[in-house]
Amino acid sequence: MIIPMYFRIFAHRSRLVAGLFLGLTLCAAPGEASAQRRTGTPVTPRLEELPRRPMDTIPTADPETKVIIFSNNTWEYYRPELRRLDRLPVFSEHWDTASVFSYRNIELGELPATVDLRMVDSLGQFCCPVQGKVLSKYGPRRRRNHHGVDIPMKPGEPVLAAFDGKVRYAKYNTGGYGNLVIIRHPNGLETWHSHLMKCNVRVGDYVKTGQVIGYVGQTGRAFGPHLHFETRYCDQSFDPEFLFDFENGMLRYQTFALNRDYFSIYSRASELLEEDDEPDLANTLLAEADDSTMIRAAQPKPASATGAPVYHIVKKGDILGRIAPKYGTTIARICQLNGIDRNSTLRLGQRLRVR
Ligand SMILES: [Zn+2]
Repeated sequence: MIIPMYFRIFAHRSRLVAGLFLGLTLCAAPGEASAQRRTGTPVTPRLEELPRRPMDTIPTADPETKVIIFSNNTWEYYRPELRRLDRLPVFSEHWDTASVFSYRNIELGELPATVDLRMVDSLGQFCCPVQGKVLSKYGPRRRRNHHGVDIPMKPGEPVLAAFDGKVRYAKYNTGGYGNLVIIRHPNGLETWHSHLMKCNVRVGDYVKTGQVIGYVGQTGRAFGPHLHFETRYCDQSFDPEFLFDFENGMLRYQTFALNRDYFSIYSRASELLEEDDEPDLANTLLAEADDSTMIRAAQPKPASATGAPVYHIVKKGDILGRIAPKYGTTIARICQLNGIDRNSTLRLGQRLRVR
């Protein structure tokens, strides 16, 4: 919950700055002032009548985010790094903002056997959309297949963007999803957030990891407040638990090898994760189930299987020099684990692997 707080804080700050600026421009508009003096009746120009030219850029606590002040006394956030995403074809091709599906002319069989999805790097971070226990898992259900996971939450809990991305869909869906926000990420992955009480973003918005994109609700076909969360690639769903450990709020892979057979409704993460604990038994089961053991073997091991990694969430005032001794490690080791430089700017809420 660090990041949403942070966004709130810096929204206030920006409003304050914009307010100050507004005061300044009104005082410093000589033409306006003399016109008022001549007629004797104060005239307040309507916002929409004023020209909207960028006047100034103000830095914020986040080094990647600036505030642009416009000549009509309005302001908006500017995130150069996110705007650069616009050049990626993934944000223009198969980009349907009216319908939940946007890859209708691509068949499952046309997808490559494995797609390597880079999930995080030194620039792109991860944030768990909500943290909680999965009540209803991905997979076949009696009446209707379940293409996502259900995580019960209190109504109004903020739902956060898992990664940077662009909003492809944000509205009420009559098909049962209720208020639905779909975010497409630079690697082509889409995250779907359903039954929201309220969407907090609009189609075309760029979102940053950890940004509040909506609030938990029970709109659409939902019994009780919960987040129904889906992960899709080229419209095809796969079990989100392959990627996310919702209970601990963790990402399982830095690079995820998404196999085509995961798109089957019968392909469940819980079975594959158990396989890592009990390889012999699981391999037998896999061999009985299908002949794709080789493809499955190409999947990188979850972080938990490679020596219990420890993470630190960056808080206000944190520096590497203080984090390292806390975990009995060195700055160099933390840099190595996270692919960062010792001079890298740490961001509030950033997840750092420390061991
Ligand atoms: Zn559901």
